[in-house]
Amino acid sequence: MKIISIIGRLNGPKGVTASSIIEKVIPIIVRKYPDVKFHFVGGPVDSNVEKAYKTSAARDAITLTGVLDSLDFYFQKSDIIVGAGRVAIEAIKNGKRLLAVGEKRYIGQISPNTLYDALRSNFGDCADDDRFDWQTMISDLDFYLGQNKESLEAIERYNKSIYEEYFQKTKLLTQIGDVYSSVMLKHNLLEFSEIPVLMYHRVVKSPVVGSVHNTYITTGLLEKHFRFLVKNGFQTITFADLYELRIEKKPVIITFDDGFQDNYENLLPLLKKYNLKAVLYVLVPLVKKFNDWDEKDGEPQAPLMDATEIKSMSDSGLVEIGSHGFSHKNFCKLSDDELKHELVASKLELEKITNKKVISLAYPFGIYNHKVKQATIEAGYEFSVATDSGPVRFSEDLFAIRRIQIFPHTSVAQISRKTNGYYLRYQEWKKKIRSWIGIRQ
Ligand SMILES: [Zn+2]
Repeated sequence: MKIISIIGRLNGPKGVTASSIIEKVIPIIVRKYPDVKFHFVGGPVDSNVEKAYKTSAARDAITLTGVLDSLDFYFQKSDIIVGAGRVAIEAIKNGKRLLAVGEKRYIGQISPNTLYDALRSNFGDCADDDRFDWQTMISDLDFYLGQNKESLEAIERYNKSIYEEYFQKTKLLTQIGDVYSSVMLKHNLLEFSEIPVLMYHRVVKSPVVGSVHNTYITTGLLEKHFRFLVKNGFQTITFADLYELRIEKKPVIITFDDGFQDNYENLLPLLKKYNLKAVLYVLVPLVKKFNDWDEKDGEPQAPLMDATEIKSMSDSGLVEIGSHGFSHKNFCKLSDDELKHELVASKLELEKITNKKVISLAYPFGIYNHKVKQATIEAGYEFSVATDSGPVRFSEDLFAIRRIQIFPHTSVAQISRKTNGYYLRYQEWKKKIRSWIGIRQ
């Protein structure tokens, strides 16, 4: 006798799935495999499921067990587990043969072909639309029931390896609390290859005369960038959105460094006009009133935001405030205590001002080393951004997120290239090719 357990709630949308299995799948399987028993366990049985059961010709092969305190018995004794979410994870953890099906999708056997869908949909429970192919479930069951011992062991090994790869706490994202969240985050990011993170600084009405660093953009051009993003279906997200897994289909993160007052005056109205979000990396106010770190290079002075302005940026709901420290000094050159102060105290100060958690940081000048990164993690940040260093894939290092620099003359056509999700990798590739053929940058 073979036992197939369908584990999960048996009412609501999940009850509909269970009824379909009873009506469309079980009779055909039982005809071919008369010694197979189907157990529906784990949740209250609603009238639809009850009715499907009572009118089924294969009733003798079905048991409706409903609510149970412990499902251990079924996880151990079943030959095949059918379910979604935690049930599916538990099944692969135990190396069980699994057919993933939830209230939105039939996924089936977890294979290289279905794994991605399975991870994205929480094994069939979350998706925009319903997609069930009961014919595939019949052939998947037929496949499992017809396998010999060796190939079943191979399936078990494969399932266990998926568990180890995706559901055991990974080193990569240990900072993201929940294991499951980190898996979803990793996968959501892999889908886009990368989330473009754009880096702006000042936002001005007219070009900055005498600018050496060219770290400004005029409102006229910025508005063109914003229009491009809106027209092309981009959704601006913040690091807080990312952390909470509010990830859009076509995400982009736009960041502004240093917390210039012109961000409050010129950027905020534009964010409101286009309903776009941005991340601002500000220096703790009152320590510095203007960009004195740029002075020696001859960059014109520009005032920084005060606490009230930072607070109203944050209160707009469109701006995440991240830390840029206190002094705008190269973090690599600080003593341990100074570094800790820059990281921890600035976070606390900005949290006091905004009344929100500060979860991301921008290294001054984009400069960091291993020690700085480690201290940033220990200070309780979840993300930190660099400038033109760090891996080209976002998810590889959440504490060295590379950004795409925007200049005073970055055109809409260039923005289009820079936001296509492959820009950074393409740039790296070009560099490599150039070095192979001996051309200097
Ligand atoms: Zn800066």
